[in-house]
Amino acid sequence: MGKYKVSMSSPDITSYEIESVNKVLNTPILSIGAQIEGFEQSIAEYVNTQYAIGVNSGTAGLHLGIIASGAGNDDLVITTPFSFIASANCILYEGATPVFVDVDPDTGNISPDLISEALHDLNHSPDSAQRWLPRSIRSLSTGKKYAQKAILPVHAFGQPADMDNILKIAREYNLTVLEDACEALGSEYKGRKVGSFGDMSVFAFYPNKQITTGEGGMIVTNNKDWDTLFRSLRNQGRDIFDAWLCHNRLGYNYRMDEMSAALGSAQMKRIDELLSKREQVANWYNERLGCVDGIEIPRIVPNTTRMSWFVYVVRLSQDMDREKIMLLLEEDGIPSRPYFTPIHLQPFYAKNFGYQRGDFPVTEKLGAVSLALPFSSVLSEDHVDYVSRKIVQAVNKFKPLNCVK
Ligand SMILES: *Cc1c(COP(=O)(O)O)cnc(C)c1O
Repeated sequence: MGKYKVSMSSPDITSYEIESVNKVLNTPILSIGAQIEGFEQSIAEYVNTQYAIGVNSGTAGLHLGIIASGAGNDDLVITTPFSFIASANCILYEGATPVFVDVDPDTGNISPDLISEALHDLNHSPDSAQRWLPRSIRSLSTGKKYAQKAILPVHAFGQPADMDNILKIAREYNLTVLEDACEALGSEYKGRKVGSFGDMSVFAFYPNKQITTGEGGMIVTNNKDWDTLFRSLRNQGRDIFDAWLCHNRLGYNYRMDEMSAALGSAQMKRIDELLSKREQVANWYNERLGCVDGIEIPRIVPNTTRMSWFVYVVRLSQDMDREKIMLLLEEDGIPSRPYFTPIHLQPFYAKNFGYQRGDFPVTEKLGAVSLALPFSSVLSEDHVDYVSRKIVQAVNKFKPLNCVK
């Protein structure tokens, strides 16, 4: 923790997890064994999909989803700029181009109305398509038709994207839907768990996620052919029925090892406890910050019938200097993070695709006012109390400025 009195995030590991991993270390099988099968089964059952395929990161899972969608050079994938960078990078790995679509101001999730508008314009004429394409390929696109392959919504901060409307549009345009559910294990949209809506979905298990395997991810799908494909792609392109060292396609080493899988299985045994502890922590914050001038607590929309809390992100009122508030918190030993920094404004994307400030106003506004506070299932009520008191104090320092307007 260093200079901090509270950690930004923390895994929740008990002696049960430690024993589970130690047991594996006492066997000769540290990869491709019974542990990954067990972990895959527990996720498939929990999410209610037919297949689950363990991989060594959420990003690896998303990459394989893009491959399965068939998106490659000169293809477009519709996605959100308000996300962690992996959800757009995976599109670039295959040479396809992300078409960013701005988000809903309540949830920060991709707006179905804007997806409709984008697809209409992209298919209407080369001229109407221009404004949706990154500047770097606008001039090149005259006379050349880019094919749209997939929609990749992200359940930002754990809150489900508007899947019914996204699926409706996807059917209309015959597009694959890849759900980035990396922040949302356990969240429910209209009573049904996320991960079961798209053609495939991905969960991630980095140490700050709802459950962790250290590094790791899980693909879920109901498509039998894709299950076979993902198992081959994660294992150097080897089909399960192939002879040893016979490789049918370009594959990767995206395998999850047995220690990680054992850790994941042990965490899944505790999933209800882990999620309700996170919910408790979010409620403690809500109680303390719910009526504070200058701070807005997370908005949960009616379609979110269960929120699986990944992070706790408040919005500061626009006239507040977020940097100053972060510094004040830091002086009190409290870490906090701007969250998310819009993907299109990341130096790599701005430089290579020509994105500019103003391109996605809702995303940029959310990016400018959002502040993630320390959050995990092991955060105590005293810690939440401390962080809340300090952020209220920090925000109050700005009150006189508010009144000037
Ligand atoms: C965590 C996360 C990922 C994948 O993360 P890995 O570190 O590769 O496991 C992808 N998308 C989003 C939105 C995430 O939060």
